[in-house]
Amino acid sequence: MYKLIKKAYLFLLPRKLHYQLEPLVRRVMYHLFYKGNTFYCPICNSHLKKFISIHFKLETDNSCPRCGSLSRTRTLYYFIDKEIPKDNNSILDFSPHRSIYNVLSKTKQNYIANDFDNQFHADTQHDITNLPFEKEKFDLVICFHVLEHIPNDNQAINNLYNVLKKHGNLLIQVPIKEGDTDEDLSITDPKLREERFGQSDHVRVYGKSDLKNKLEAVGFKTEIIDYAETLSTEKLTYNGIKKGELIFHCMK
Ligand SMILES: [Zn+2]
Repeated sequence: MYKLIKKAYLFLLPRKLHYQLEPLVRRVMYHLFYKGNTFYCPICNSHLKKFISIHFKLETDNSCPRCGSLSRTRTLYYFIDKEIPKDNNSILDFSPHRSIYNVLSKTKQNYIANDFDNQFHADTQHDITNLPFEKEKFDLVICFHVLEHIPNDNQAINNLYNVLKKHGNLLIQVPIKEGDTDEDLSITDPKLREERFGQSDHVRVYGKSDLKNKLEAVGFKTEIIDYAETLSTEKLTYNGIKKGELIFHCMK
C-alpha cells in the first residue's frame, strides 16, 4: 500500500511540491492506515499499527509512517534526550531529518540546521569544509550521514572541532564497513560509486577504527556507542530501533 501511494504521489504531483506536501500526506496516511497501538515513534509521539519496512541497497529499515524517521533518527533522538546535557544552548545540525529538525527547532535552544545542497530542512547552506561560524560557538554539533559525501573530510573534521565549544559534544554517524576505510576520490561516476561505496554520491566507506583515529588526531576524545544495546528487546521492537546504529560520540 505504502509503495503504491508513494508511486502515485511522485507521479501525480510536481517535484517541487513533494517535500512541502509530505507532512500533510503522511498525516492522512497515518490516520487512514497506520494509527494503532502496537508500536510507537518517540519523535512524533505517534502510536502505530506498524512501521514501514524500507529496503535500501545494503539493509532494511523501519520508517515511521507519520514523520518519516528511520531507526537511526530515533536512536539519535534517544541519545540526545538521555545522554546530552539539557543546558545546551547552541546546536549546529548538518542535513537533519525533518523529524529531528521539528523537535530541536522547537526547544528553547539556539538551533541552526545547515544543508549545503538544500535538500533537507535547513536554515543555512554552508559548505562543511568552509564554515563561517566563529570558533567555539556550539555546545552540540550533529553530523549524521554527511562525512561519507565529503572528499576533504579532514578539513570538515577540523572545522567541526573548531566550531565546537570546549567540553562540547559532537555526534557523528556514517556507513561503516569491516576493516579499513575504502576510499578512491578518482571515482566520480555515480554508478561506480554506488557499486563500491553504497550510494551514487558517496566518496568512501569508513572503517570503524580509521574514523575513530581521524577524529582523535584532531583532539577529540571519541567513544563508539551502539545506543540500542542500552535498551530492552521489547523497547527496540516497540520503537522500531535496530542494533548497530553506531554513534561516534566525540568530546572536546
Ligand atoms: Zn514518527
